[in-house]
Amino acid sequence: MEAISKNFFLYLSNNKVLDRLAKRFGTNFGADKIVGGETISQAMPIIQKLNHEGLHVTVDHLGEFVASEEEARQRTEECMHSIQAIATHGAQSEVSLKLTSLGLDISRDIVIEHMHRILQEAAKYDITVTIDMEDSSRCGQTLDIYKELKAQYPNLGTVVQSYLYRSDQDLDELSPLDPYLRLVKGAYKESGKVAFPEKRLVDDNLKHLIKKNLLNGHYTAIASHDDAIIDFTKQLVQENNIPNDRFEFQMLYGMRNETQAQLAKEGYKVRVYLPYGEDWYGYFMRRLAERPANIAFALRGIFSK
Ligand SMILES: Cc1cc2nc3c(=O)[nH]c(=O)nc-3n(C[C@H](O)[C@H](O)[C@H](O)COP(=O)(O)OP(=O)(O)OC[C@H]3O[C@@H](n4cnc5c(N)ncnc54)[C@H](O)[C@@H]3O)c2cc1C
Repeated sequence: MEAISKNFFLYLSNNKVLDRLAKRFGTNFGADKIVGGETISQAMPIIQKLNHEGLHVTVDHLGEFVASEEEARQRTEECMHSIQAIATHGAQSEVSLKLTSLGLDISRDIVIEHMHRILQEAAKYDITVTIDMEDSSRCGQTLDIYKELKAQYPNLGTVVQSYLYRSDQDLDELSPLDPYLRLVKGAYKESGKVAFPEKRLVDDNLKHLIKKNLLNGHYTAIASHDDAIIDFTKQLVQENNIPNDRFEFQMLYGMRNETQAQLAKEGYKVRVYLPYGEDWYGYFMRRLAERPANIAFALRGIFSK
C-alpha cells in the first residue's frame, strides 16, 4: 500500500496540468504548513522566527519545469533578490537552488552564467549557496558544474543521495575539493539500474556516506528526519571526537518541529530548509510520497481553512 501511494504521488509530482492548477489556487491546500509563502517577503518573518528559536535556515525559491531562457533568467533574479533580502534583514540563512530552475535543461552555458551572477552576489555577503540534487539523469551534470564552480567559490555546497549506487565514488571524487555536502536518502523515483531498491540498503548507505565524509574531515550536513540516522550521527561524532562545528542536522520546514527544537537545545546546529514560491506543487507532492502521514496533515490543512 505504501509503495503504491509513493509511486502515485511521485507520478502526480510530474503532472504539468495539476502544476498549473496549483499555481492558480495558491498554497491553501495545506501546503502552507510546509511552504513559507509565495514570496521572500512572506518567507522572511518565518526565517526570523526560526532564527529567534535558535534554528538556522536555508531558503529555496521553488521552481521546476523551467522551459524558457526568460523564465530561467527570472529565477536567477529571484535568487539574487532572496540573497539581498537575507543580507538586508541580517537573517541566519543560506540559499538552496535547483539547476533545472536556472535552465539546466536548456543549456549548460546559461546555467553557468546564472550561477556566476548568483554566487558573486552571495559572496558579497558571505552567504552559502547549496545546489540541490534532482533526479539521477541530472546528477552527473550537476556534480560537474559543482566541481567547476567550487574551485572559484568556496561558499558552495551540493547534495549527495544515498539511494544512488554511484554516490560512494562521487564522495571520493569530490573529496579533494573539501566539499560542503548535504547527505540525503534521495527523493525521486529511480530505477533499480541506478538506485538501491530496498530502503534498508539506502539507510545503510546513508550511514556509510555520513561516516566517510565526516572522517575525511569535511563539513557535513545530515539531512534526515529519521531517528536512526540522527542517533547514528550522534554516536559517531562522540566516538570520534568530532566537534559540533564540523556538522549540522537539516530538516524540512514543518517536519518534526519538536525534534528540531530538541536537537538545538542539546547544542547541535540545526538548519531548516524553507521553500517558498508559487511553484510549490512538485515539492508538496514529493513530501506526500515520502510519508503517508503527511497526507492526513495536508487534508487537515485544507479542511481547517
Ligand atoms: C533539508 C533537506 C534537504 C533535502 N534535499 C534534497 C535534495 O536536494 N535532493 C533529494 O533528492 N532529496 C532531498 N531531501 C529529501 C530526502 O532525500 C528524503 O527524501 C527525505 O528527507 C525523507 O527521508 P528521511 O531520511 O527524512 O526519512 P524517511 O526514510 O522518509 O523516514 C524514516 C523514518 O523517519 C521518521 N520520519 C520521517 N519523516 C518524518 C516526519 N515528517 N515526521 C515524523 N517522523 C518522520 C519516521 O519514523 C520514518 O519511518 C532533503 C531532505 C531534507 C531534510
